[in-house]
Amino acid sequence: VISGLSFGAEKLYVGTNAEFEPFEYLQNGEIVGFDVDLMEEIAKITGKEIIWKNIAFDGLLPALQTKKIDVIIAGMTATEERKKFVNFSQTYYESNQMMLINKENPVVKSFDELKGHHVGVVLGYTGDIAVSEIEGVKVHRYNGTSEAIMALKAQKVEVVVLDSEPAKNYAKQNPELELINTDVAKEEYAIAVRKTDEALVEDIDKALVELKANGTYDKLIKKYFSD
Ligand code: GLN
Repeated sequence: VISGLSFGAEKLYVGTNAEFEPFEYLQNGEIVGFDVDLMEEIAKITGKEIIWKNIAFDGLLPALQTKKIDVIIAGMTATEERKKFVNFSQTYYESNQMMLINKENPVVKSFDELKGHHVGVVLGYTGDIAVSEIEGVKVHRYNGTSEAIMALKAQKVEVVVLDSEPAKNYAKQNPELELINTDVAKEEYAIAVRKTDEALVEDIDKALVELKANGTYDKLIKKYFSD
C-alpha cells in the first residue's frame, strides 16, 4: 500500500524552471513540456494535485530546502554534489552537454579547445560546473538559457555550453547557430525531493516504474522527442 494515497488529493508543490524546451517551457503563459506531463502522470498515480511553481534554476534547491516546494522536476542532473542535499528518484532521461557556436565564427571544434574563449553557461547548470573546471576559460554566467543564447547571437560570447535537448532545439530555431557534440560525461535526469521525504520519493519511483511499463513514458518520449 502506498502511504501517499491515504492523503487523497493532497497538494504537491512542484518547482521547475520553464526555460528548458522540450522539458519545460512557456506556451501562451502556461508551463508545458515533457517533465510537466510526466509529473502530472505521477501525481495521478499517487493521488496528488500539483501546484506548479516557476523558479530560476539556481533557486530550485533552496526553495526545496525552505519548503516553498516539495518536488523539483527540471531536467535536473542527479550529481554527487546535489545528492548530499536531496533525494533523487530513479533516472527518467539521459543527456549530455553540447556546444553552440555562430556558424560565421567557428572558434572551436571540440570541448578541449574552450581554453581562452568566452563561453556562456547558465548559472548553476551542470554545464557551468563542467566549463568552470577548465583552466583559462572566460566563463560568462547567465540566469537562463534564452539569455545565454541571446549573448551568443550578439557575439558577446563565442560558445554556449548547454544540455543536449535544449541545445538541439535552439540550433533548430536559429539556423545561424551550429551544434557540436562533446564527450563530457553523460548525465542522468531525476526528480528531487527533500532528504526527509523518503515515502514521497518511493511513491515517485513506483509511479515511474508503472509509467515505463504501461507505455505512458514511451508515449511522452514520442510526443516531445520525435522530429
Ligand atoms: N541538467 C542541467 C543541470 O542539472 C540543466 C538543467 C536545467 O537547466 N533545467 O544542471
